[in-house]
Amino acid sequence: MTDIALGIDIGGTKIFHALVNKNGEIVSEIKKDFTPKTAIEIEKKLKEIIADYENQTQLAGIASAGACDLENKKILSSTANMPENYRNINFKALNDKVEVVLENDANCSAWAEFKTGTGKGLKNIVVLTLGTGVGGGIIVNGSLLKGKSGAAGEMHFKMHTEEKRKCTCGAYDCFEVYASGYGLKLTYKDITGEDISTYEIIEKYNNNEENAKKALKRWNEYIAMGAVGLNDIFDTELIAFTGSMAEFADIKFIEEYINKYTVTTKTKAAKCTAGNFAGLIGAALIAFEKKAQANFSQK
Ligand SMILES: [Zn+2]
Repeated sequence: MTDIALGIDIGGTKIFHALVNKNGEIVSEIKKDFTPKTAIEIEKKLKEIIADYENQTQLAGIASAGACDLENKKILSSTANMPENYRNINFKALNDKVEVVLENDANCSAWAEFKTGTGKGLKNIVVLTLGTGVGGGIIVNGSLLKGKSGAAGEMHFKMHTEEKRKCTCGAYDCFEVYASGYGLKLTYKDITGEDISTYEIIEKYNNNEENAKKALKRWNEYIAMGAVGLNDIFDTELIAFTGSMAEFADIKFIEEYINKYTVTTKTKAAKCTAGNFAGLIGAALIAFEKKAQANFSQK
């Protein structure tokens, strides 16, 4: 039974869960619950979900928004779309029989990509999740970069100093507020003065409208600028893109831009291939990894 782990991905609106094997293959039906509105209800729902699987596995990995501590137990920072007190949940204590390993959702996606997707066989990759916000997962020499607190890989480095765009983190002009779907909305507003939704911009882009094309081009330039910095720091073999906005990333342009300006070595850009459930797959694979390390250190 140690060859199967439960993977859970907690999103702002839905919780997905399924059993995953060591190859990162989903081996049960993928089930869905709605994310409750309060931390107490989320905790209760997670207890129910894990209990449902406790006869099938004693290992669970959970992917969640927010930076996760070094013990894979708690969320360090409350995020915009999760309720207050979410950070008080002790994920390790959700079940007596099942060992639970928590990790940030973007880190889980990066780990799945590294183990099963375009990053397979590589050692140094950065995975950017482009959605309403931007998530990052960084693999260095085959290990997930966690930093001193566990929070490494946050994509809130500054793009400039002019305080043009307020970010969800409270600061100004972070990479996230340029490279996200929200960033695209602000870029379109910079170009046209019009405040319309990201969805409407994408519709205009699909209808070949000039300003939408301009906005998407500039959005890709911002992503490429950030990616140059990431490649300079981590000297990667691959920078891969996932998330709902990734289909609009101009991979060829981004790769050429990085390799034109980077001062380290050339890299590749690609779309992720680990799929829509990379979060829960990566969470399960990280749980296997942690379990293996724990067994090793006991010997
Ligand atoms: Zn920020």
